[in-house]
Amino acid sequence: MTRSERHGHEGDRYLEQYPKLQKWINQCLLCGARGYEPCVPDEIMPWPTAATRILKRFFPPLAVHENGHCEVCAKVVGKKAKDSMCDHL
Ligand SMILES: [Zn+2]
Repeated sequence: MTRSERHGHEGDRYLEQYPKLQKWINQCLLCGARGYEPCVPDEIMPWPTAATRILKRFFPPLAVHENGHCEVCAKVVGKKAKDSMCDHL
């Protein structure tokens, strides 16, 4: 991610303002997609309702699997593993 991209994203400015919201942002290790944790509570203290509203306004919901891959990448990786079992032999 380049500097200009960071500054171009309004959501990032909020994350800088409210660093505690970072923990509700998921990022995929493979494609770098970012979004808010879908199970985020409606009220994040100390900014009940406002914080969650900001997250949902500026970021799409993004669930990541245990290995840090988003839904899309997890499928691609899983498919590849199945399709090309012999590629590494
Ligand atoms: Zn991904």
